[in-house]
Amino acid sequence: MTKIDDYIPIVGEPIISDLRLLARKLKNKVIQHINSTAVGGGVAEILNRMVPLLRELGVNTRWDVIKGGDDFFEVTKKFHNALHGRVEDLTDNDFEIFMSNSLKNIEDIPIYGDIVFIHDPQPIFLVNKRTQNRWIWRCHVDISDPQNKVWDFLKTFVIKYDAVVFSSPNFSQNLPIKQYLIPPSIDPLSDKNKPLSQDVVDKILEKFNIPKDRPIITQISRFDRLKDPVGVVSAYRLVKKYNDCCLILAGGMASDDPEAIKCWEEVKEAANKDPDIYILLLPHDDIVVNALQRASTVIVQKSIKEGFGLTVAEALWKAKPVVASNVGGIPLQIKHKYSGLLCHSIEGAAFAIKQLLNSPDYAKKLGENGREHIRNNFLITRHLRDYMLLSLSLYYSDDVVYL
Ligand code: UDP
Repeated sequence: MTKIDDYIPIVGEPIISDLRLLARKLKNKVIQHINSTAVGGGVAEILNRMVPLLRELGVNTRWDVIKGGDDFFEVTKKFHNALHGRVEDLTDNDFEIFMSNSLKNIEDIPIYGDIVFIHDPQPIFLVNKRTQNRWIWRCHVDISDPQNKVWDFLKTFVIKYDAVVFSSPNFSQNLPIKQYLIPPSIDPLSDKNKPLSQDVVDKILEKFNIPKDRPIITQISRFDRLKDPVGVVSAYRLVKKYNDCCLILAGGMASDDPEAIKCWEEVKEAANKDPDIYILLLPHDDIVVNALQRASTVIVQKSIKEGFGLTVAEALWKAKPVVASNVGGIPLQIKHKYSGLLCHSIEGAAFAIKQLLNSPDYAKKLGENGREHIRNNFLITRHLRDYMLLSLSLYYSDDVVYL
């Protein structure tokens, strides 16, 4: 089990002292996080790591997960897509399903936090249970260009919160409540990001029958159209005309995403049984993800929309050269031609991948710069500090302190 002091060699002692100081100020508060899935996707990933560390720091932090039937998650997936700007046909029935499931959750989920963090739209309605406590809506999705019908509906709940947190400045909205910019983070000591021996990496490649004799291009993501895995296959095909390489598309399926199977089938069809394309349905095993990222020559994240893109941070932390779309939180992580390459199209992605395969020294430099950029900005220690500062700030208003 990771301890907070284990981060000292990575970020330095003063940062850990600051965390202890902030935690002492919150020692009388209960912090409750609520989201819609315990596994799969970035939110679960982060909470799994943050909650135990906050507890070790002495902040009484808990995590609850709402429940919902397939029909509810079909509707919230439509909401998710619509917030990302996709045209979705939302019917009155969809909104009714959302409301009836939300009313059930409001009965079932106990609210005991002094500070309640609600993650994403699925549990947003719970704010109707607010009393004297403080409520934060933590929005992880790219909401720069939302479909009005859904955003206007959700906004009626958002304005009941004390504050909203976005991952990138371009997601901010016209709202009467405070808005904070807090990008997510990765944990350098988690199984997903800790150093691995070459032996472990090789064994995992062997397990999936992936050859080591040529460059490996990898995208690790849930099977979701917004991650554009089919676009990655097209980019790989353009690269393959000039550079022998193989492609790994690896991912799982989040329990709150009913579209994942369709997307998986589309990818298989696009791959058309190419023996150099490895489409892996991953078990929930962080060491496997870690090993695949470490085994890769180039990591791709060709998302059409992206809240933040933890996979980019994970790859950069492993000093890998990354080619990723210029969307959502990705440009916070990749400064073009400094800590990776940004792309805007399939052709652009292919061009960037070829450039990295053909210039290993350049690729190495981008990866090294990327690792330092992540160390300075996107590790879990910075995230813990921001969440604690935000929690404290909720008790300060017009020079009056309510602590
Ligand atoms: N992930 C994983 N297994 C998979 C696919 C993804 O562990 O099969 C992890 C990935 O390593 C990252 C997170 O899930 O930590 C995905 O976060 P990201 O911000 O990239 O995308 P999201 O899924 O939240 O849209």
